[in-house]
Amino acid sequence: MPSKPPRCPLCGKPRDPEYKPFCSRGCRDRDLLNWFGEDYRVPADQAPDGTADDDRFDEG
Ligand SMILES: [Zn+2]
Repeated sequence: MPSKPPRCPLCGKPRDPEYKPFCSRGCRDRDLLNWFGEDYRVPADQAPDGTADDDRFDEG
């Protein structure tokens, strides 16, 4: 099977082992910012009265 050289997932350039899996510090930082900025946002509207987990722990 063909083995392509690994590339930066952000811009497609050949990646640098120092910043892998990215090609440069810029791309690595951008990816980190994406994580912290969007995907890693915790939903803040969990029921404060504790009615969110009703029968999830029913085991026994
Ligand atoms: Zn890149």
